[in-house]
Amino acid sequence: MKNSRRDFLQKLAVSAATIPFLPYDAFANAELRPVPSAQGPTLRVALMGLGYYASLVADAIQSCKRVKITGLISGTPAKLADWGSKYSVPEASRYNYENFDRIKDNPDIDAVYVITPNALHHDQVIRVANAGKHAICEKPMALNAAEGQEMIDACANAGVKLLVGYRMHFEPKTVEVVRMRAAGEFGAIKFFQGQCGFRIGDPTQWRLDKDLAGGGAMMDIGIYAINGSRYMIGEEPVWVTAQETKTDQVKFKEGVDETILFQLGFPSGAVASCLSTYNMNYLDRFFLVGEKGFAEMQPSTGYGPIKGRTNKGELTQPHVTHQTLQMDAMAGIIFNDDTPPVPVDGQEALKDLKIIDAIYRACATGTKQELNLG
Ligand code: NDP
Repeated sequence: MKNSRRDFLQKLAVSAATIPFLPYDAFANAELRPVPSAQGPTLRVALMGLGYYASLVADAIQSCKRVKITGLISGTPAKLADWGSKYSVPEASRYNYENFDRIKDNPDIDAVYVITPNALHHDQVIRVANAGKHAICEKPMALNAAEGQEMIDACANAGVKLLVGYRMHFEPKTVEVVRMRAAGEFGAIKFFQGQCGFRIGDPTQWRLDKDLAGGGAMMDIGIYAINGSRYMIGEEPVWVTAQETKTDQVKFKEGVDETILFQLGFPSGAVASCLSTYNMNYLDRFFLVGEKGFAEMQPSTGYGPIKGRTNKGELTQPHVTHQTLQMDAMAGIIFNDDTPPVPVDGQEALKDLKIIDAIYRACATGTKQELNLG
């Protein structure tokens, strides 16, 4: 382990698109700025669910150094034809949801990126694992922690990796703030504020259908505040309290949360105060404060450019398409065992799901929930 980390740190590459890429504990040494392994096999990925976000991912992959689209999985034949010709994916590597288990016999596919509605992730990732392919899954990884654990187990049993599309973990300004915090530049961390939301439109979309979304804003956008509180503070929360408000009972039906306020407590005594909503625009802001400094990011989790400053000044790291950075980094994680600055594996996602479960329990019961994230 030590050796591979040393090897990893020695594999420093210098390029204009260099991003800081350090294991957590190496952040303390601000001199080291390794990048993900630039060398190694190309990750040949099949995209599953050819919707809005998949189209961003597909475009971003065109700028990747180590990733290529070699398969497509869709329930819409016309998309398979269009995307197949656009991305030069042969007919033999185009599948639907009924027959995609056959990727098992396709030597041109290393991994499948599951980009379907939330409720489908669990079964689809397990089928990908059973086909012997690495699984990359969009957030939220599943509808709850029990499902998430089953996905982790299935991937472990199949000997494949499970990664989750936490694109912010590779975003240069975010990575810089995490580095500064880990290096003690803000002093002991006291408080984090995460405000994540937007005003959702079409009431018929799957995001407002509990069966497909698993919830409401919390599953979709509130998860950024949960995940952000953990990587910005650098600890795992030990308790959560939460309160729900709903102004539109028609649009946000039973089980589909509109607005939830939640608070997290961390072992050091740091606290977080967060807002998740589908009913307010212009909410994309992180604020972190420690005894010696602060970081403020707005926008903090949108597609970018992310903007931010600390008590030391503006964050000036260049914007690079998040999904391009993410996918190249994932090639390094899968083939080179790279360790990203903030993990993107199933265990990382499971922690967010445990917190979401506890937030919903806190809203339902009105009581503080203890968290044991292990
Ligand atoms: P879309 O509705 O745009 O696309 C989802 C696609 O999934 C559809 O186009 C369809 O593709 C496929 N699908 C399969 N079954 C169903 C079904 N029953 N209902 C609807 N679609 C179905 O959603 P998004 O692309 O916005 O979101 C997909 C996932 O990506 C979600 O989990 C979301 O949370 C995540 N996401 C992540 C983002 C990030 O920044 N990391 C940003 C946006 C979304 P086909 O016709 O090919 O079968």
